[in-house]
Amino acid sequence: MVSDEFAFIHRYFANLNPALVKRAKSNGLVLGIGDDAALVQLNGTYAVTTDSLIEQVHFFPNFPAKILGARSLEVNFSDLYAMGALPQYVTLSLEIPERYMDFDEFWSAYSDGLAECLERHNCTLIGGNITHTINRAAPLAISVTAFGKQVDDNKSLRRNAAKVGDLIYVTGSLGANGLYVKSCYNNTLRTLDSDVRRYFEKHAYFYDPHMADFIKVLVNYSSCAIDVSDGLLGDLSHILMQSRCGALLNYESLPLDRISSALLEELKVSPKSLLKQALSAGGDYNLVFTLDPKRKDKFERELKLNPALADFMVTPIGEVIELNSERFGDNDLATDGGLITIVNNNNEEVTLRLGSGSYNHFIAHS
Ligand code: ADP
Ligand code: MG
Repeated sequence: MVSDEFAFIHRYFANLNPALVKRAKSNGLVLGIGDDAALVQLNGTYAVTTDSLIEQVHFFPNFPAKILGARSLEVNFSDLYAMGALPQYVTLSLEIPERYMDFDEFWSAYSDGLAECLERHNCTLIGGNITHTINRAAPLAISVTAFGKQVDDNKSLRRNAAKVGDLIYVTGSLGANGLYVKSCYNNTLRTLDSDVRRYFEKHAYFYDPHMADFIKVLVNYSSCAIDVSDGLLGDLSHILMQSRCGALLNYESLPLDRISSALLEELKVSPKSLLKQALSAGGDYNLVFTLDPKRKDKFERELKLNPALADFMVTPIGEVIELNSERFGDNDLATDGGLITIVNNNNEEVTLRLGSGSYNHFIAHS
């Protein structure tokens, strides 16, 4: 039983990764958890971002707490990486409903997940906040603010920097998280053998631990990236909108997740449905970036020669093209799938009919 808020902070959050904290202290962290605020000495350009995970919205009750601990950080790290920055510091704010208050099994696992993820990404927890809510129906709400240092002060990865002729790449594979979430909703996940289910769950929430190594290379080749948090089509369209371009996207080149493909039959899902997840679900947190085709060979060679990136997947999936500027409205933040033309391996335009939706010239969808 945890007697009060301060004992709670002490037990689960204040003493994670002592070696990392020590390193951070020799590198700009003046004061961490324990006072009214942390003190950090910053030099260089920093990316700052906040993201939240809300029970019932972003995760199901009974979701494994250890994965949730990592996930609460990774959804933020992915934004930092997409700017060309490496995680340095995070703060963690928790709104805890009564049923979670004395739930040691949950918080121990959550705190382990946090600590391991901080370690993987070389980042330090420097503060936060706890509030308790007595409303029985209130969801557990987790917010993280993350500070990341640019790899190079002069090299940020921006949404408005795509150029006509650039290749479009995506990291990792697509569709696992979307398929996992869909199978939770329609209850087919339950039909999997429990070992397979746990394996799939872990896989669906995998976030590449070598992203920092990748970004250190990427900023020397690209100046345009976005993390896929809302779906490939939607997020790519943010790049296109801000860069005032269109894109050809070859759906046959998409790196569909192999483990998910192998489970399709058991989950009673068609291959088209996985394609739909790959195009419209964002939970894999891949990075989409653009690259001048003249730099393709050197870039891919450098990745292959980097031992940390031996298994890091990057796949070219399309090309940035010119579009008549009349197509752009005045809201650069909008999602406009009409900027993307889907083609096949022969470069022929296709209309993908995936269930109820048509994903060519698609309009913002959920
Ligand atoms: P204050 O009342 O000044 O906001 P608190 O008493 O809430 O501070 O917190 C005490 C210390 O514990 C502060 O340094 C705060 O940043 C830290 N802290 C509170 N909640 C968390 C958390 N969830 N994770 C990490 N540190 C936390
Ligand atoms: Mg205070």
